[in-house]
Amino acid sequence: MTHAVKHHPGIPLLEQYIEGTLEADIALAVAAHIDLCPHCQQLCQDLTAEQGLQLELTAPTSSMDSTDFDGMLADILAEAPLEPSATTTKQATHVQVQLKDKTFTVPRALARLVKQQTKWTQLGSIATNKLPAGDKRHVSLLYIDKDTAIPQHTHKGLEITLVLSGQIVDEQGSYGVGDLLINTPDDTHTPRTLPDEDCLCLSVLSAPLQFNKGITRLLNPLQHLFY
Ligand SMILES: [Zn+2]
Repeated sequence: MTHAVKHHPGIPLLEQYIEGTLEADIALAVAAHIDLCPHCQQLCQDLTAEQGLQLELTAPTSSMDSTDFDGMLADILAEAPLEPSATTTKQATHVQVQLKDKTFTVPRALARLVKQQTKWTQLGSIATNKLPAGDKRHVSLLYIDKDTAIPQHTHKGLEITLVLSGQIVDEQGSYGVGDLLINTPDDTHTPRTLPDEDCLCLSVLSAPLQFNKGITRLLNPLQHLFY
């Protein structure tokens, strides 16, 4: 049985994603979510069609002129050879990430970055792998072993987490594969994994996490692990 994705980016973010106005590292998380979410794949198709329709409606009527139409048709036909290559790239749907003896499958949207992944940095049962993406935010793969809690923290900026494998539970609910969590500076949470299942996430952070409890001396290395 496949897990039903419950937490989506929402229409405004999807619209910005389609328009190409979303910042690159947020767009990356949204693209990876779409790869995992049939619901948002459908929404994107509908929104794209809607935008196409709007363009058609606003187009000047003179474009119905037969010579222009021939030109448009020629343009469309000229672009046609792109089709087959688009289909072939679809075959490489998933990419694999290796961590010690474990192998995780991650969405196609992350393929280019995962190929450039660096070394895993491990601290206890948490490991991160910083990906060379975005300059405003820190993008990383985040591995959390089973039965592990990340100390309670708030966010100085935006925290986007996309679950790629396993599950995360926090005060607000539980998140499975494909679920996208967006936390802002107003949110405080203590994410943890299930007692018998580890977890891999994509994490996009615009500022370091701020831990609320515990000894700073011990939490500092943890902060560096994430950011
Ligand atoms: Zn979705």
